[in-house]
Amino acid sequence: MVTPASADPAPLDACYTWGRTLSEGTSGDDVRQLQIRVAGYPGYGGVLALDGQFGPGTKAAVTRFQQAYGLGADGIAGPATYSKIYELQDNDCTPVNFSYDELNNCNSDWSGGNVSAATARANALVSMWKLQAMRHAMGDRPIDVNGGFRSVACNNAVGGAPASRHLYGDAVDLGAGSQGFCALARQARNHGFSEILGPGYVGHDDHVHVAHRSTRFWSAPSCGVSREGVEELPVDR
Ligand SMILES: [Zn+2]
Repeated sequence: MVTPASADPAPLDACYTWGRTLSEGTSGDDVRQLQIRVAGYPGYGGVLALDGQFGPGTKAAVTRFQQAYGLGADGIAGPATYSKIYELQDNDCTPVNFSYDELNNCNSDWSGGNVSAATARANALVSMWKLQAMRHAMGDRPIDVNGGFRSVACNNAVGGAPASRHLYGDAVDLGAGSQGFCALARQARNHGFSEILGPGYVGHDDHVHVAHRSTRFWSAPSCGVSREGVEELPVDR
């Protein structure tokens, strides 16, 4: 007779394994780990707070993630949602289609920027999960990454602005790929990038720059992506 004792094994993942179902009202580091994985699903113009508090924004993001992958969309993270995340993440916690290496062609240890190496690397991880969501939304075609993190020395060497988000690790420069610059710039508005610079913005006719910043700054005038009521400072080159 078959014993049912192991009928429902908890899935184990080399990066991170969730030990409980998470729904609105829960909090903790497991919520924060979930928020990082669904950071690309805040809705148009949104940015999901990575605060470890499962509020309405997290519920909406989880729901969008579930919808994107054809799961039951109830905004509650349980086994089916975790299984999909495990499928999407590598052992180093990066999403399967992006890597730390491609987000840093400046140095090997993420040092020398405007934040600690650990923070820069953590910021890059969040950007990768946003890119993974964007990639999936655009038909799972490869996204062409041309670099991300810069130390101060690397930033100076390429003439980057002193406040460039590349110094914080969350900026990523994208090539045209099969999607084209404008499709990338427009799509990025749906995936948690509060900074989007592209064609028509000074220095950005040959790439699309996506990043995080505290207030929204979108400018790719040639693509119909416009500034939205924030100060018009040159942000990045
Ligand atoms: Zn850039």
